[in-house]
Amino acid sequence: MKRVRSRIRLSLLSEFDPWGSPLCTCPFKFSLNPYTGCSIGCHYCYATAYIGLKPSTPKKALEARLLRDIARLPPGAIVNLGTSSDPYPPEEADIGLTRRALEALIPRGFRVLVTTKGVIYAMRDLDLLAAGNAAVTPTITMLDEGLSRLVEPMAPSPKERLWAVREASGAGVPVGVRLDPVIPYVNDDPSMLEELVARIAEAGARMIVTSTYKARPDNLARMRRALGAEGEKLYRLYKEKGVRLHGYIYLPEPMRKTLLEPVRRAAARHGLEFATCREGNWGREWFTAGSCDGSHLIPLRIEPQRSEGRSGVRLDEWLK
Ligand code: SF4
Repeated sequence: MKRVRSRIRLSLLSEFDPWGSPLCTCPFKFSLNPYTGCSIGCHYCYATAYIGLKPSTPKKALEARLLRDIARLPPGAIVNLGTSSDPYPPEEADIGLTRRALEALIPRGFRVLVTTKGVIYAMRDLDLLAAGNAAVTPTITMLDEGLSRLVEPMAPSPKERLWAVREASGAGVPVGVRLDPVIPYVNDDPSMLEELVARIAEAGARMIVTSTYKARPDNLARMRRALGAEGEKLYRLYKEKGVRLHGYIYLPEPMRKTLLEPVRRAAARHGLEFATCREGNWGREWFTAGSCDGSHLIPLRIEPQRSEGRSGVRLDEWLK
């Protein structure tokens, strides 16, 4: 997919472009990561080569920079929070940086998508999210609490995350769950995946997006260390069968289809929209959802405000 570059100068926001991967099917949108680093510390994290292994650290002068940036965005642009650092790490409960970002974006009618493994959004921010043009795409990868603790050490438990899905859906915030990544020898048991999808549907989600684990040298080394014998098998599988594709090590296509098929089957059985993330043509053919990232779930509750950049030129006009 050819990406449009807007040529506009932004300080905090950036155009979402997952390391230039042509396999990304996301609509044009902006990324906002109020923190850098990430305290949740998933061993499979794709972003650590960029954000490091440090705890969540608030970005400096976030509000002033955000207000400057959003004056330059097209009205109603999609802003996705949490594309490379979780916007609801434990620190957010005290710091409230993500809350302040939502307070700037939502009343102006931006379409907001929140991607997170946290649950603070459901405990504290549903008032804002339910009133605005917003949807959430929380990640839940498995039901096994012990295994989740091992690979996603500081994330709320799967039960807590399912609770948050229920709260958000009940409050009228559309939810699309990311069952992502599916990792061989870790969370690939078909009956567990089917049970997880059933629990996600019961909690009120409307959509599932899934993908297979794409190894990078740093995350594969962490998974190998954390998982003992299973980690060794995982390491060998990616070393022996893996194929380099756009900066990642992918498993061969037939293996990836086998890993994701139970998720697709269960999503269809439970009436959930379905999409895959960066799997290529066959993954696109499996879509039943209106977008891969859940942005089509965002309701229009607030009329987008027209904002102009310093030059007086709006970004949507600039792009024409
Ligand atoms: S929550 Fe997301 S950004 Fe944070 S460590 Fe896990 S995968 Fe990486």
